[in-house]
Amino acid sequence: MNFKPSKAFAIEKLQNFIEKNIMNYSKLRNFDYGPDDRSNISCLSPYITHGIISEEEVINKSLKKNSFIKIEKFIQEVLWRIYWKGWLELRPNVWSDYLEDLKKIKENFQYNENYLNAISGKTNIECFNYWVNELKNHNYLHNHVRMWFASIWIFTLGLPWQLGAEFFMKYLFDGDCASNTLGWRWVAGVQTKGKNYVASEWNIKKFTNNRFDNIKLNENPVPIVDDRNYTILKSDFLNANLSENQHLLIFENNMSFEQSNFNYQLFKNIYFVFNGNESRQIKLDEKVLNFKRSLINNQIEDLKNKSLYCKMINVEDLKNMKENLLALYPSVGENLDYINSNNLKNISFLYRKIDQCSWKYCNKGFFNFKNYIPKIIQEFI
Ligand SMILES: Cc1cc2nc3c(=O)[nH]c(=O)nc-3n(C[C@H](O)[C@H](O)[C@H](O)COP(=O)(O)OP(=O)(O)OC[C@H]3O[C@@H](n4cnc5c(N)ncnc54)[C@H](O)[C@@H]3O)c2cc1C
Repeated sequence: MNFKPSKAFAIEKLQNFIEKNIMNYSKLRNFDYGPDDRSNISCLSPYITHGIISEEEVINKSLKKNSFIKIEKFIQEVLWRIYWKGWLELRPNVWSDYLEDLKKIKENFQYNENYLNAISGKTNIECFNYWVNELKNHNYLHNHVRMWFASIWIFTLGLPWQLGAEFFMKYLFDGDCASNTLGWRWVAGVQTKGKNYVASEWNIKKFTNNRFDNIKLNENPVPIVDDRNYTILKSDFLNANLSENQHLLIFENNMSFEQSNFNYQLFKNIYFVFNGNESRQIKLDEKVLNFKRSLINNQIEDLKNKSLYCKMINVEDLKNMKENLLALYPSVGENLDYINSNNLKNISFLYRKIDQCSWKYCNKGFFNFKNYIPKIIQEFI
């Protein structure tokens, strides 16, 4: 498994998947054959998360070669990501509460032996230890493994889900505040209240082709309880006014300017904002930071070849930029937190059309959202 930090590589990966594997996706997607065989899934998430390729591009290209009916499952999964993002955008307190909880829990668990054994892959559960090392070495885990891992972490090892979500964010190349936080909440049983995801020995054995033995798990746990209810705080996502010769900021979630809905606009400068660990609440592994840095450099090279002026800046530089700035919306997460906590009122946002047209359907559960998928697709394809 290899994630080259390059747009050309991502596009080739997408093309390959569409040509060879997409037709069997719904049948085979739940199998984890290990890091040496990922042909049954796309492995595009590190690129989609960073906006190197967009969900729109993935869906468009997939539908050019296949009918909707034949690849519906894949399209649904791609839109899950947008759904989670929209769900969190409407309820940003879920993210800020998570960070607050995490701060307290981290202090209490810093010397906890159970926790320290878990993050160093030294538990008595062989498959879990294997996945800890896989995550650290490959910076990626299969979706089914993420579910099993989170379930074992919470219900067999008895650790807080918040610490597990932090552990994933630290090492995943596709680490995304919405998919990760809400994925962990969902496994714990606090996202859909009272419904937790329980990993079981037979399921792990079946979907890993019997690669693991001795999987003794708590298979009858009760869901985690969190009494907080989150009401919808924000529901309109309107673009700032555009005029020529403004500066544009691009954060780590929307790196492909060329694919953006604003690529026709003439900007004076395009700044790619790198957020190192100094200003992050969740510190990332150096390999993950390097991946982000290399993706930015790759994008800058591409744009320079097209005679656009662009450069990388650090997120801390934003405090010294006093002029009005436009930004491709960074979404709920560390970059938006930086802007808000430093009161950077000179930054206004531009939203992706696909988000504007999807997020309004994120007020309820995914099963409700699913009904709108044909409509969403019609609007942007
Ligand atoms: C506890 C937990 C934590 C997770 N953390 C993240 C995360 O930080 N970042 C992240 O991008 N995904 C996360 N996911 C979702 C999912 O596991 C990954 O998106 C998927 O494994 C990526 O592999 P792929 O690109 O081969 O996916 P494919 O199966 O090929 O799917 C194609 C695309 O659809 C989207 N997608 C697929 N499944 C999901 C899903 N369950 N939720 C949201 N989007 C999905 C992704 O963008 C993915 O690239 C998490 C899931 C769980 C259960």
